[in-house]
Amino acid sequence: MPDTPSDTFSHARIDWDEQGLPRSRLFDDVYFSSLDGLEETRHVFLAGNDLAERFAALPDGGRLVIGETGFGTGMNFLCAWELFERTAPAGARLHFVSVEKYPLTHADLERALALWPHLAPYSERLLAQYRAIHPGFQRLVLDAGRVVLTLLVGDALERLPQLDARIDAWFLDGFAPSKNPQMWNDALFAELARLSAPGATLGTFTSAGFVRRGLIAVGFDMQRVKGTGKKWEVMRGRFTGAPAAAGKPWFARPTYMPARREALVIGAGLAGCATAASLAARGWQVSLLERHAGLAEEASGNPQGVLYLKLSAHGTALSRLIVSGFGHTRRLLERLERGRDWDACGVLQLAFDAKEAGRQAKLAAAFPADLLRPVERDEAETLAGIGLASGGLFFPEAGWVHPPALCRLLARHPNIRLLPHQEALELRRDGDRWQALDGERLLAEAPVAILAGAAEVRRFAQTTELPLKRIRGQITRLPQTGTSVALRSVVCAEGYVAPVRNGEHTLGASFDFTSDDLAPTAAEHRGNLALLEEISTDLAERLQVGQLDAERLEGRAAFRCTSPDYLPIVGPLADTAAFAEAYAVLGKDARQVPDTPCPWLDGLYINSGHGSRGLITAPLSGELLAAWLDDEPLPLPRDVAEACHPNRFILRQLIRGQ
Ligand code: SAM
Repeated sequence: MPDTPSDTFSHARIDWDEQGLPRSRLFDDVYFSSLDGLEETRHVFLAGNDLAERFAALPDGGRLVIGETGFGTGMNFLCAWELFERTAPAGARLHFVSVEKYPLTHADLERALALWPHLAPYSERLLAQYRAIHPGFQRLVLDAGRVVLTLLVGDALERLPQLDARIDAWFLDGFAPSKNPQMWNDALFAELARLSAPGATLGTFTSAGFVRRGLIAVGFDMQRVKGTGKKWEVMRGRFTGAPAAAGKPWFARPTYMPARREALVIGAGLAGCATAASLAARGWQVSLLERHAGLAEEASGNPQGVLYLKLSAHGTALSRLIVSGFGHTRRLLERLERGRDWDACGVLQLAFDAKEAGRQAKLAAAFPADLLRPVERDEAETLAGIGLASGGLFFPEAGWVHPPALCRLLARHPNIRLLPHQEALELRRDGDRWQALDGERLLAEAPVAILAGAAEVRRFAQTTELPLKRIRGQITRLPQTGTSVALRSVVCAEGYVAPVRNGEHTLGASFDFTSDDLAPTAAEHRGNLALLEEISTDLAERLQVGQLDAERLEGRAAFRCTSPDYLPIVGPLADTAAFAEAYAVLGKDARQVPDTPCPWLDGLYINSGHGSRGLITAPLSGELLAAWLDDEPLPLPRDVAEACHPNRFILRQLIRGQ
C-alpha cells in the first residue's frame, strides 16, 4: 500500500483518536473537526448552499443535484439526505455525486457513522448498499430511487473530467488545502465551473486566498462568511460564469421533453425490466410489453446466471462498464433472498492455460484485491470445495443469480404495468406518441418508447440497421448428487458451473452463431459436459458424468444478443438517413464538429446488445437510459456512455466512408 497519495487504488487508512474520531494517516488531517462536525456540515454545506429553502421549493417531480469533493465518511451526504427528507416534497428527488480517492472500508464506515446515532436511519441504508465500491463510477440507489448517490471512486482530477452532469450545489470538502495541495488547484476549479448549472452555489470550509481567487477566476462570485467552532471564516459562492461549451451534437442530450411522463418498454427481459424500474422510480408510468406470458422467458430465463467479470487490465470502456455494472447489480441483489434467488458464493476463474494465467496476472496487478485476487491451486480447491487442476482468479463478491427473480424484483412497482402476450411488430410516430402495433392492432402508445427486445429490435424500421447479432447458447441442468453439493463457488474455465440451486447445478454454455432453433440438442449437452471436464474432472466424477445420457439431459437454449464491439447499445436513437446527410462532411474530415443538431427520433430509445453479461450491464444501463431521458447525471464516465451510444455505428460508417 502506498504511503503517499498515488494513482494506486487503496482504501482510506484511518487512525482513531482518543475521542473515537477518524483521522487520515495519509493526509494527516481529520475527517471532521470534532464531535461538533455536524454543526460545521450544516453551516458550511447545507446553509452555505441554502439547501433547506431550495429543497422545500422543489416542485413535485423536481430534483436537485449536489456535487462533492471527498465523500469520506459520507457524513455530509447523510446530513443532506436527512434535510431533504425533512423539507422536500414527496415527489422530489435528490442526486448526490461525490468523488473519493480513498473510500473507507465497510468496517471503517460503520465505525465512523456510529458517531452520529441520530443519523442511524440513513447510515443503515447507506451501509446496506455500501458494497462492491470499486474504482470508477459506482451508483447507489437509495430509498426506492428517491435518493441517488453516484460515487466517483478515484482522484478528483481524473474522475470529474469524466462526469456528465449539471451540479446545482457544491460541497467543496477534501481536507485542508495545506494538507492536500494536489487536489486544490486550477484544474479542479475549471472542472467545477464546467459542471455547474447556471446559478450553481458552492460552500467550503476553507477561506484560503488561492482557493477564493481560483474560484473567482473560473466564474464563481465568492463571499467570505463567519464560520462555526474553531473555523473563524468559511466561504460560499455562486456560479455566474459562462455555461460549458456544447460537445459533439451526435452525443448531446436530446432536448425533446414529452408532455406526459409515460413510456412504452418493449421486451420484459432484464434490459426491459431494468429500464422500466429506473423510469418508474423517477415517476414515469411505464407499459412493459412482452410477447410471452410473463417476464424473463427468453435469454433472461435461465435458472442460474453467473456474475462473470471479463475484465481488461487496460481500462477499456467495456472493462470500466463491467466494474460499474457489477457494483450496481451486486447492490441490487441485496434486495433478493440469498440462497434462493442468488448467492455471493464467489466466482473462480481458472488459469486453465498459460495464456489465461498471463492475462490473470495482469488483472491481479490492475485491480484491487477485494474485487479479485489470484489464488494458488490449494486455496482455489478450498474455496470451490472440489478438486481442480489449477489456481486462478477469485472474485469474492460475485456469484450466481436466478435472473427471473431479478427481473421480477425490478418490474415490481406500482408505476409499471406488464402487458403480456403483446408482440409489437411495428412502431409508428403519431403526433406526440409512439404507437406499438401488431399488424393494424394498436397495442399501446406513449410519448417515449424504449426498445429492449434484444436482436428483435431489428424488426422495426427505425432500428433495422443496428448491427445486432444473435448467438444461440444452451445450458445443461445437472441434478445434484451426494458429493456434488460440496461445490461452494461458481467455477469457470471456458464454461461455467454453479453450486446447487433447487437440487441442480447449471452448466453452460454453448456458442452457436448459426442455429435459429431453440430446441435443446444432445450435441450441445455433450459439448457442455466437455466444458465441465475442463473445469474439474473431480466435479465431473461427483456428478457421475460418465453415466449421464446426453439425449436425456435437460437444458434450455436462448439467444444472446451482441454488437460488433461487444458493448451494449444504450441511449437515444437518431434518424439514420437524416444523420448521414447532416454529418456527411465527416466522410471527408473526421475531425469536423458541425453545429447541426442531431436529427433524433424524438422519444425513441434503446437498451440492447448485452451479450452473455446482461446481469452485469443491463441494470446499470436502465439507469443510464433514465439519465439520458431525464437529463440527470450519467451513472458512467462520459466516454463509456458514448462507447455504448447507438450513434457510434453510423458515425463509424460515415467516417470510414462505407
Ligand atoms: N465529506 C466527508 C464526510 O462527510 O465525511 C469528509 C471529507 S474528508 C475531510 C476529505 C476526503 O477527500 C477524504 O476522504 C479524502 O480521501 C478525499 N480526497 C482527498 N484528496 C482527494 C482527491 N484528489 N480526489 C478525491 N478524493 C480526495
